[in-house]
Amino acid sequence: MRILIIEDEHKIANSIKKGLEQESYAVDVAYDGQYGLDLASTEDYDSIILDLMLPKLSGMQICKQLRQLDVHTPILMLTAKGEIDDKVNGLNAGADDYLVKPFAFAELLARIKALSRRPKNNTGSILSVSDLTLNTITYQVKRGQKNINLSKKEFALLQYFLQHKEQILSKDQIINHVWNYDADVLPNTVEVYVGYLRNKLDKAFKNKKPLIHTIRGFGYKISDKQNV
Ligand code: CA
Repeated sequence: MRILIIEDEHKIANSIKKGLEQESYAVDVAYDGQYGLDLASTEDYDSIILDLMLPKLSGMQICKQLRQLDVHTPILMLTAKGEIDDKVNGLNAGADDYLVKPFAFAELLARIKALSRRPKNNTGSILSVSDLTLNTITYQVKRGQKNINLSKKEFALLQYFLQHKEQILSKDQIINHVWNYDADVLPNTVEVYVGYLRNKLDKAFKNKKPLIHTIRGFGYKISDKQNV
């Protein structure tokens, strides 16, 4: 197991390094953000311990850039007390977990072990069918390498489809899961939104097979099979 620590406070960084080495981890340390990003994007780590406030590049920027570079190494973000908003932002930026300073080493070790158990390249945040992917943390949707911009509602609808791929979903089921209780939903609202998604995911990619299928009389289904 190889871990990267990106932390500018030498005392904290070195004591984490020492502790992890005693647990037989291989540990690299970067004391500034830019060097941390360089290491994280070129070397192969099992986990990254990332401080939020760093010289040159902040923890948040590193997190975002790594995810944009398609590096999905699990990230444990360190935040100081009182940076509550930052930990929420950190998770939105693609961090997998956070720990508030000061912390006990045993706590950090437990978090690192939990993160390392997750499958690599898929930290549980990516849903997919065929070459279509949706990242529930960064909100990025792609078909192949091409980014697709979706409205919030289109994103929610696609997320629901992908969570139930290969299953037929009725219009009622879709309304109940994608629209909130007091939303004004007309009978053809689902059809309209499925139409929007089709335009962006299928019709925009004429040489690829369509993924959203209408099951007449029942509802819809997302699938990469031709005959559904
Ligand atoms: Ca710091």
